[in-house]
Amino acid sequence: MSAPITPRLPGIRFVHSPGPTHVPDEVMHAMQRPMTDLADPRVAALIVACEKGMQELLHSPGSDVFFYASNGHGVWEAVSANLGSDQHSLLIAGSGHFSDQWALQTESLGLSVLRTPHQEGQRIDVSAIEAMLKADTHHRISAVMAVHTDTASGITSDLMAIRQAIDRTKHPALFVADIVASLGATPFDMDAWGVDVCLGSSQKGLMMPPGLGFVATNVKAFNWSKEHAKPRFYWSWLERKTDNQSAKFCGTPPLAHLAGLEVSLGLLKAEGLEAVFARHKRLGGAVLAAVHEWATAGALKLHCQDPDGFSTSVTAIEVKSGIDPEALRVVAREKFQVAMAGGLGDLAGRVFRIGHLGDMNEPMILGALAGIEAAMTVEKIPHGTSGLRAAIAYLAEHTP
Ligand SMILES: *Cc1c(COP(=O)(O)O)cnc(C)c1O
Repeated sequence: MSAPITPRLPGIRFVHSPGPTHVPDEVMHAMQRPMTDLADPRVAALIVACEKGMQELLHSPGSDVFFYASNGHGVWEAVSANLGSDQHSLLIAGSGHFSDQWALQTESLGLSVLRTPHQEGQRIDVSAIEAMLKADTHHRISAVMAVHTDTASGITSDLMAIRQAIDRTKHPALFVADIVASLGATPFDMDAWGVDVCLGSSQKGLMMPPGLGFVATNVKAFNWSKEHAKPRFYWSWLERKTDNQSAKFCGTPPLAHLAGLEVSLGLLKAEGLEAVFARHKRLGGAVLAAVHEWATAGALKLHCQDPDGFSTSVTAIEVKSGIDPEALRVVAREKFQVAMAGGLGDLAGRVFRIGHLGDMNEPMILGALAGIEAAMTVEKIPHGTSGLRAAIAYLAEHTP
């Protein structure tokens, strides 16, 4: 179903998908810098600044950071290719659509994948991971891979609890976290949480256009890969661990994206990570307050059933059968200039999603909620009409 594209309208178009997110002007301007030759020392300095900035953001000064000119799916493959072995299996924790896709993509590389079951509306089942590791007495499982925030469900799982479960079993499996949707929106501490490998991409909490992915590995994971992984080249951490700036990227570095990243990392640092996380929590809280009110008319409900699982990046809202969330999205986007996301996988046609991460502030959230409320009115979707008022009250109370 493709809707007509309305001509350009004046004013700002609100992007409230959970990626791509709004890109600050400072980042856009940095990306417009002229190109240079690769021997220019500014190139090496830029790459080092990005590596150091990422280590700082991840709280992992000793990790190796590898950048790829790719989206999140690319770095999924980078991780699976570097941790794949014919003698081992990768255990992917069920979290929803994104763990399903990661598992399918990894299997397509000819690798053995184990999955834990996932229950809709819930966080990752940590006890299922623990049971699988316990049963794996020959230690064939080489890594436990988990999605921190499953963007399809709007649910953030407890990575520390997974680490503790791995430790309880005394299983040597590496711990891998997909932080594509959570980085820059909720606390993450690679070293303190015992995460051996993490991966992310540019277009979500990093406030950049899509097209830059990264993987960070600690020494343990790097050495495991060096010793056990199947042959690989383009993605290979071994090939990329070098001071040769173009070998680092297996070719020409994505200079514009790196220039943007340097600036976006600087913006996060200038605001202060604690303030960044508090802002995301606050804006997400305002969305929850509005949705609770909307839901009082019985046609909508929050998808997340675990009060500890609400994502500070994105909120998924389920609609009653008979209501078309895709039609709502079209009205919100084309009439009221608010772009939301739809349902993915099993949730297609059942939810719409409001992204609230990245370069976002109070009036943007209020504007988006107002536009969505207007679109629900046009679509005659029954909803409590004090949603916006509830969000305002929440922000009035919580904004410092
Ligand atoms: C967006 C996302 C991905 C995939 O990223 P793309 O850039 O769209 O390929 C993977 N994992 C999570 C958790 C995501 O939110």
